[in-house]
Amino acid sequence: MAVRERLKTSVRLKKMGISDNENCQICAQHIENTAHLFFGCEFSDRCIRQVAAWLGIGWNARNLPQTCGWIRSRYRGSRFRRQVVMAAIAATIYLIWCNRNKAFWENIVNSVDSTLKHIKFIVKK
Ligand SMILES: [Zn+2]
Repeated sequence: MAVRERLKTSVRLKKMGISDNENCQICAQHIENTAHLFFGCEFSDRCIRQVAAWLGIGWNARNLPQTCGWIRSRYRGSRFRRQVVMAAIAATIYLIWCNRNKAFWENIVNSVDSTLKHIKFIVKK
């Protein structure tokens, strides 16, 4: 759903008439669309940079289709390593969305450090 931009971001909720607020639920400084939430938001950027450093990869893609394309066609690593990178990317996107929902429903944003710990836990399982 994130790749297809079908997640109910604040921009989409406003267009649907469900919410008046189209700001990012995490940083509250920018309009919350898929591009901002997963790649433009400072929270997400810090998560992505730390996950990339943990994996030892350059994760420079700035949107989800570009990220998926990079993994499929340009990432050079063993099959196992590619699966680890894909799991880490999926976990990162999932937990950014979870953090966004927690901010939306509970007004709580987890720290980047705790999110990173959770990402590592998911990938290692
Ligand atoms: Zn933001």
